[in-house]
Amino acid sequence: MRRALLTLLFLSAFHSHCLPAHAAPSSLVVLEGPNFLLSLQYDSDHNFLKKNVYADFNLHQCYVHPDLAAKLQALAPKLAEKKLKLVLWDCYRPLAVQQAMWKLVPDSRYVANPKSGSNHNRGIAVDVSLAKEDGTLVEMPTAFDDFTSFAGPKSPCKPEQGSLCGNRDLLIELMATVGLAPLPTEWWHYQLPSAKKYPIIEAIDAKKP
Ligand SMILES: [Zn+2]
Repeated sequence: MRRALLTLLFLSAFHSHCLPAHAAPSSLVVLEGPNFLLSLQYDSDHNFLKKNVYADFNLHQCYVHPDLAAKLQALAPKLAEKKLKLVLWDCYRPLAVQQAMWKLVPDSRYVANPKSGSNHNRGIAVDVSLAKEDGTLVEMPTAFDDFTSFAGPKSPCKPEQGSLCGNRDLLIELMATVGLAPLPTEWWHYQLPSAKKYPIIEAIDAKKP
């Protein structure tokens, strides 16, 4: 009995720390609300892979870990106050999609190596931008998934880019109010701290029950 228990404990520890888990949708939650604008770029052809890589996964909503959802929901009233919406470009991402991305761009400044996993694979990262109340996108210094130095959150803007850096800085300021900071190479990517304590989730069954 004792031996069986130890085996079970060993197996469960091994499973949670070493193997990617298949998670039920309930381990992640759908982020939605009047101040969020769903615009999943990988659920469309408008991405650097040039194809919809989420269709096979039935991934048509923004799934995030409840810890991240709580922070973003706390941001919602601040967005409402400024008559803005948070555009959700990417949230939870299946591991197979990460592998496809790494094949195309094997550069860890821009794409996380699937061996260690992206924090999108953990459900604790989001790629976001801002939109006005009517859904018009707020113009930013670069497009999503711009793999140049202009995508840095501190990159200077050219004089002809007018207030674009100001728009980007407003997003950074808003996200900072709930304790989220951008990656040094991507103004649109925000994630929870202590990322490694969250397991990689290989895939979720996003089909409605
Ligand atoms: Zn990201």
